[in-house]
Amino acid sequence: MPIVISFEPNAAPESAKRVLDLLDIPSPEDGRCRWHDGGLLVVRSESAALDRVRQERGVARAVSLSSSHPLVSATARKGGVRLPNGFEIGGGKAGLIAGPCSVESREQVLEIAQMAKEAGAVALRGGAFKPRTSPYAFGGLGERGLVYLAEAREKTGLPIVTEALDTDHVDLVARYADVIQIGSRNMANYPLLFRVGSHPSGKPILLKRGLAATIDEFIMAAEYVLLGRLHAGVDEPRLMLCERGIRTFETSLRFTLDVGAIPVLHEKARLPVVADPSHAAGARRFVVPLAAAALAAGADGLLVEVHMTPDQAWSDADQTLDPALLRELVAVMRR
Ligand code: PEP
Ligand code: MN
Repeated sequence: MPIVISFEPNAAPESAKRVLDLLDIPSPEDGRCRWHDGGLLVVRSESAALDRVRQERGVARAVSLSSSHPLVSATARKGGVRLPNGFEIGGGKAGLIAGPCSVESREQVLEIAQMAKEAGAVALRGGAFKPRTSPYAFGGLGERGLVYLAEAREKTGLPIVTEALDTDHVDLVARYADVIQIGSRNMANYPLLFRVGSHPSGKPILLKRGLAATIDEFIMAAEYVLLGRLHAGVDEPRLMLCERGIRTFETSLRFTLDVGAIPVLHEKARLPVVADPSHAAGARRFVVPLAAAALAAGADGLLVEVHMTPDQAWSDADQTLDPALLRELVAVMRR
């Protein structure tokens, strides 16, 4: 069973040596040891000496974990993830997170934010760092996009959900975002998962399912984030999972929304689960029906793409709702 030992930032190397002696492990390079960023050690060993490990100088925390995905399943369901505007994703009422695929300009994001707020959204989404399949496609405005999002938050009060694409961006994105999104293509970027999870800001995270990941792989990705939380001393998980469609043999839609994953994740992970019908559908006319299916399956919220003139959107135009369709979606949510 893994023992997780979080060392103080300035712990001396001798602390690790003493801890390993207590656990009968001859060296830090032993195959039973796994070091993560910033002094987090996982040791696969019996935990008889755990109390003594905790007393060692330089040890901030030491815990023994008990199953194959221990932190996601051990998290007591203390409700959901609370946003700065007070709305709780997973608190019982499905929340709508809406906004453009990419932030394109100040005016674009301000106008969409206002419209989304009036429609009933509880948070604004928008990418400033975009993972694009083609290296020639628009890649986002970077920090300028984050500044525009922050202005939209100031004007509307909507918290902002935006993606961190790389470990190098985490500090920057965390300065602006209310929720840090980890995209589908990064679900298995383990150093990134640990980095956002252990970020000292403790900012909430929205983790999207990899487009070819099994539910168990998704759960283990969540485990990396929660291991980061443990290292940072953040007790609440502040993590929501997002089902966004997976690749199957079916090609009529962009991806196949795995509606069944929603109750399975609720059973296995005790974290809020939101659904992204936009990326699954790939075409705007299918977004509302997929959203309805996700809600029926128990989704705690929806993440959707919307634009004032969706056909002109710089990314994901085909799947992006117009304001009328967004209002139709909200009517379905209310029902
Ligand atoms: C997004 O939500 O902006 C996005 C890029 O989605 P995904 O990572 O699910 O493809
Ligand atoms: Mn998109």
